[in-house]
Amino acid sequence: MKETAQQIFDKDAKDYLPVFNRYKIVVDHGEGVYTYDTEGNKYIDFLAGIAVNVLGHNYKPLVEAIADQASKVIHISNLYYTKPQANAAAKLVKLSGLDRAFFCNSGAEANEGAMKIARKFAHNIDKDKSQIITALDSFHGRTLATLTATGQPHYQEGYEPLPGGFDYVPFNDINALEKMISDKTCAVMLETIQGEGGVYPPKVDYLKKVRELCDKHKALLILDEIQAGIGRSGKFFAYENYVIKPDIVTLAKGLAGGVPIGAFIVTEEVARSFKPGDHGTTFGGNPLACAAANIVLDTIPNEKFLNNVVEVGKYFKDQLIALKNKYPKLIADVRGEGLLLGAELSSQNKLSGVEIVNECMKRGAIINCTVGKVLRFIPPLIITKNHVDEVIKILDEVLKISEK
Ligand SMILES: *Cc1c(COP(=O)(O)O)cnc(C)c1O
Repeated sequence: MKETAQQIFDKDAKDYLPVFNRYKIVVDHGEGVYTYDTEGNKYIDFLAGIAVNVLGHNYKPLVEAIADQASKVIHISNLYYTKPQANAAAKLVKLSGLDRAFFCNSGAEANEGAMKIARKFAHNIDKDKSQIITALDSFHGRTLATLTATGQPHYQEGYEPLPGGFDYVPFNDINALEKMISDKTCAVMLETIQGEGGVYPPKVDYLKKVRELCDKHKALLILDEIQAGIGRSGKFFAYENYVIKPDIVTLAKGLAGGVPIGAFIVTEEVARSFKPGDHGTTFGGNPLACAAANIVLDTIPNEKFLNNVVEVGKYFKDQLIALKNKYPKLIADVRGEGLLLGAELSSQNKLSGVEIVNECMKRGAIINCTVGKVLRFIPPLIITKNHVDEVIKILDEVLKISEK
């Protein structure tokens, strides 16, 4: 018997821990850039499972690699070697210019591991070298340590006592960091491009100066590329745009095209801080997840693929700027890199950000609004200009009704 969408909503309301405000569709399947619900409605998907479905839905080589690997071995634990894991680590090391990769299952876990290895590294220099500086309006995850690293109080309220040793500075404010950092700083952790906090790319030279301050104080630079990495900025790692290198970079979201995975990649010097037994994971980097990651890592770093991200991203940004020019009272700013773009809504909109997202959905487009007022676009990286036109047309219709 076919369950109706309403029956699924009712079941969920009764049994699922309600921590998400969900949109009222039951997703059935996807194909490329489109997502279909159980009622047969089609949506162009410019959220991509929150920057995860980088190759879109039902990407054949990915589906085949997962099916192939599933029929061989899904999981075996990290007590044994597997080819998919060794190959995925080798690819990440080569792409990053760093030396060693570790796999886990999510972004929060990747950041958690990055902070753990940073603490070990710093404690070997000085037992009091434990301060971790992060940015206000950042987002680093939902575990106790990563929500503490997240510079937004509303993620922290009610979870006290929080782990100690964290301080915050405004993003893009090098003077604030200069005042905060000292020889007691263990690490500075930043998103290369802030995503969740409202899509804020770093100013020219900001990260270069952050790198210099870290070097001066022997603090590690951790870049969280969980959202901005994997080609989204137009480079495989977003930090390549700013001609710097971190000591540690974290990845997750798009890394296995939708299969849960996370990773942190470190320099050899940092890697030496961990001895066998200092860190671990049961699932992390299992052959199924790594087989999927290998497809992503064989596809996205290609020049042709990344050039398309740059080109379509630029086109998309230009179209958003054109919308801003058409509705100067409604759109306050357009910003972002590659296919991580944001359009900030002014307070003059008749519709709230969430209402705009809902109106887009009614017209067949899935987009996202973050921090209540920034429309965020993080589509699959395989989109074309025609897909952009489709979404811009819908946005135009919705902004029309958002005019007072
Ligand atoms: C999504 C995200 C995380 C957390 O990842 P999870 O897989 O949800 O734990 C951390 N940092 C950034 C920048 C993110 O976008």
